[in-house]
Amino acid sequence: MARDFSKVKRIVVKIGSSSLTYNATHKLNIDRIDRLAKEISDISNSGVEVVLVSSGAIATGMARLKFDSKPQELSKKQALACVGQSNLMEIYNKCFADYGYTVGQLLLTKYVIDNKQMRVNAENCINEMLKLGVIPIINENDSISVEEIKLGDNDNLSSIVARLVKADLLILLSDIDGLYTKDPNKYADAQMITQVDNIKELCIDKSESKSSLGTGGISTKLKACEDATNAGIDCIIANGGNIHAIKQILSNKEVGTLFKAHKHKQSSQENERTL
Ligand code: ADP
Repeated sequence: MARDFSKVKRIVVKIGSSSLTYNATHKLNIDRIDRLAKEISDISNSGVEVVLVSSGAIATGMARLKFDSKPQELSKKQALACVGQSNLMEIYNKCFADYGYTVGQLLLTKYVIDNKQMRVNAENCINEMLKLGVIPIINENDSISVEEIKLGDNDNLSSIVARLVKADLLILLSDIDGLYTKDPNKYADAQMITQVDNIKELCIDKSESKSSLGTGGISTKLKACEDATNAGIDCIIANGGNIHAIKQILSNKEVGTLFKAHKHKQSSQENERTL
């Protein structure tokens, strides 16, 4: 069925580490960040509100402190996240400022999402930024979230944020064109799926492979899409390497894999229960 996103007013865009960094060096792909900032600024100019969920804190910290690979030690990863998060925001600030936009950083933890008052505060904060014309840039606070109490991955975080702000559409930008029947990086005969109506009925090889800096692989994206579509939010997995992916999606081009929302958008109370 043809796509129709003409009524979309608010979107959440998630960009993964694999799209923000160069595969060979693990350093930031500054050109891509700049193009993403331009695309989001232009979409905002058109009247669609955009919330960005950005990974990349640890990867940016690694590049800044010249680490060749991700350290195993938790405290090292946390320190890298401290360095990288501020550095990443500095770059986002610069890029968005070039197109007339101000960004605001919000770092979330599982504690915030699990606690009703804090969750409402986060929701109000994002809504207020949008009202002020600010682009909210959200990440998990990796510096204080130890493994056991983490939201886990930014696919999940973006799905939570999409439900929190009652977005019309969640776009997961990754290093692949969409969902395939099996991992396209391993199997040449993998075929892309353009639309999924029911994730539960999917018959694919959910191999756990992911890029070296990616956190979730395809499984976490499917779970994120399942949670969001159950809450009435359409989701799309698309390639972050396509600099016009978001605009093409909003103009109903058949880009990426569309996961159709299961029912109409939930009421605030229903939404509460799914978070
Ligand atoms: P990101 O950093 O964008 O979150 P990840 O590296 O975590 O990305 O996950 C994307 C990777 O998932 C792809 O590069 C691909 O190799 C892998 N993958 C495994 N199975 C599939 C599948 N069925 N369809 C698409 N990608 C898959």
